[in-house]
Amino acid sequence: MAPKVMQLLESIEAIVGENGIFEDDARGVGAIVRPASSDQVSRVLKLCNDAGQSIVPIGGNSTMVQGTHRGRGELALSLERMSMIEEIDTESRTMTVQAGAKLQDVQEAAEKNGFFYPLDIGARGSATVGGNIATNAGGNRVIRYGMTREQIVALEVVLADGTIIPMQGKALKNNTGYDLKHLFISSEGTLGIVTRAILRLRTLPTSQCCGWVSVPSFEALTKLLTFVEGFSQGMLSSFEVLWAEYYEFITGPSCPHSPPIPYGDPYTVLIETQGMNQKENTSSFEVMLSEAFSEGLISDAVIAKNMAERDRLWAIRDDVNQAIQLAPIWAFDVSLAINDMEAYVDEVKTALNERWSKNSLFTYGHLGDGNLHLLPAVGDGSNETRIAIERIIYEGIRKRNGSISAEHGIGHHKTAWLSYTRTSVEIALMKKIKQTLDPGDILNPGKIFGEDPCTILTE
Ligand SMILES: Cc1cc2nc3c(=O)[nH]c(=O)nc-3n(C[C@H](O)[C@H](O)[C@H](O)COP(=O)(O)OP(=O)(O)OC[C@H]3O[C@@H](n4cnc5c(N)ncnc54)[C@H](O)[C@@H]3O)c2cc1C
Repeated sequence: MAPKVMQLLESIEAIVGENGIFEDDARGVGAIVRPASSDQVSRVLKLCNDAGQSIVPIGGNSTMVQGTHRGRGELALSLERMSMIEEIDTESRTMTVQAGAKLQDVQEAAEKNGFFYPLDIGARGSATVGGNIATNAGGNRVIRYGMTREQIVALEVVLADGTIIPMQGKALKNNTGYDLKHLFISSEGTLGIVTRAILRLRTLPTSQCCGWVSVPSFEALTKLLTFVEGFSQGMLSSFEVLWAEYYEFITGPSCPHSPPIPYGDPYTVLIETQGMNQKENTSSFEVMLSEAFSEGLISDAVIAKNMAERDRLWAIRDDVNQAIQLAPIWAFDVSLAINDMEAYVDEVKTALNERWSKNSLFTYGHLGDGNLHLLPAVGDGSNETRIAIERIIYEGIRKRNGSISAEHGIGHHKTAWLSYTRTSVEIALMKKIKQTLDPGDILNPGKIFGEDPCTILTE
């Protein structure tokens, strides 16, 4: 190790203590720094900034886009020693947490106190509040409660030069100039380290209904969404659609789930509503599906009779790992207008068929949010295949004015395609903001913008 780096690490250790730093020898990258307070984060960043030392913030490391990728010699900064739930304020309906707190711990703490923290993603057991904020995580209940951005009342952030931006108060409203917290939400660790947050809590729903329905056409699917949103009067919490190819795979012989309803229709949907009265909620859910049936919007339905049945339905939706095991498989998270989705998915399937005679395209998503996940299982896992598939997936998105990343961010993985979603004017403005807040480019370098976006695009 170079003497300058040794010296820097010694200075960092003097701030964070012996327990606060260790070498990540296994992966041959730089050390992991684990500060125990915002003040320590600030002092560490100031040292790194003065020394021009790159630093990569790491939360639960559940990134889907290599957001915590580290080059040799780059330090990692983990907030695992800052995971305290500091306060639950039952009158302001807020929770104040350190950013290293795990999402699941936050959900459970809210529930113990009679409240609800609605953000929910499959990685809830490992993902942290800081990571959720840095990626503006979405998940299963966005249709009702919005993304992470909508759950944040205030943030404390440490800038690259060590400046601490203190947290504002607990009031939801504060229209006094630019709302700076929004700069850091979805900034993927490139503008500052989120150290603490005040989260918004909601009323804990005491009833829920969950069903699985099959839908005869895309036209019926969009009408069904509008119908259930209106009928359930604000209680709709999930509307998760599976295209038939994925539904038949995930409930087929190679997977541990059985189909809740027979095959045959092009789409099936998991619908969930949450309310405050189980009896009323159940009866209204049944009437809703029966009317949808009469209107020809659904052709079959099953309703979970208890929590075990509800969990079984959700397990089908959540068990993405079954598909991931089919390597080589590629995972995409895109968004586009709902009325463009049918043509888009058909176009992707046609393009895959033309190039690879043997392929699968698993499509599912949070339809109400305009968010689709596509998992094409094709090719040989080579970089050339990856680029060819990415081009197919992203060209269709570009021409429909959609987004190449609906909820996972850009990270290191998608930098080459940023211009498919953002104009050059927007990218230039984003770079100006980065330059202003982190002129030395020490925070998560190579993320979002990348170093040479053109290299992987030359076939
Ligand atoms: C099984 C599974 C299911 C998932 N489901 C969803 C889903 O439904 N919706 C969804 O949106 N995502 C989903 N994800 C992706 C991932 O869980 C989210 O992006 C999550 O918010 C990342 O949190 P993390 O703590 O693991 O952050 P990490 O993965 O450690 O980091 C993510 C990014 O945030 C930055 N970062 C981390 N902590 C901080 C901090 N304190 N300050 C500043 N920057 C920081 C990192 O540098 C990196 O750029 C899923 C992932 C898995 C593995």
